[in-house]
Amino acid sequence: MEIQLGDITKSKADAIVNAANTSLLGGGGVDGAIHRAAGPKLLAACRKFNGCPTGEARITPGFLLPAKFVIHTPGPIWQGGQKHEAQLLRNSYQNSLALAEKYACQTVAFPSISTGVYAYPLAAAANIAVATIQNFLKQAKQVQQVTMICFDEVTMRAYQRALTDHLKNT
Ligand code: ADP
Repeated sequence: MEIQLGDITKSKADAIVNAANTSLLGGGGVDGAIHRAAGPKLLAACRKFNGCPTGEARITPGFLLPAKFVIHTPGPIWQGGQKHEAQLLRNSYQNSLALAEKYACQTVAFPSISTGVYAYPLAAAANIAVATIQNFLKQAKQVQQVTMICFDEVTMRAYQRALTDHLKNT
């Protein structure tokens, strides 16, 4: 996997992942940016799902985006750590990657799910993301490359640290 600084709406990956909310009807942060860049057909496609539970994932076309698909997953809202947040965050990465695999995506780009408005502690979230992605890549048949697209340097450094630690310990 790779870690980059950038704007996920510019990514040419086969699929980009959206840190959505459970309504799937758009929001702020990366969700708002993806909807603005994809155009109004994305919202129309999302309406048909009637929402999505936390940790699950749904796929739509990318419409006006360079990416072929958008995979929408509501990550957990941090509530102190005793509300299954870690398992739910793992599920968001795992279920998104499983959908990418099912749709034969070779390249997938993720934002830092739940570490913005949802306030998941950054270092802990990065460790979960890296471990889940690296584990998935060991057995993936279609997905070849996963990129974490970090919107700021603090976030990028956290994911770099998590990857370094993961590689040291495996
Ligand atoms: P959540 O509600 O899951 O916390 P946010 O959108 O608030 O989602 O934040 C998730 C992460 O996405 C944050 O690190 C935020 O800085 C980042 N982000 C915001 N816009 C973009 C973008 N265009 N590309 C990549 N990451 C983005």
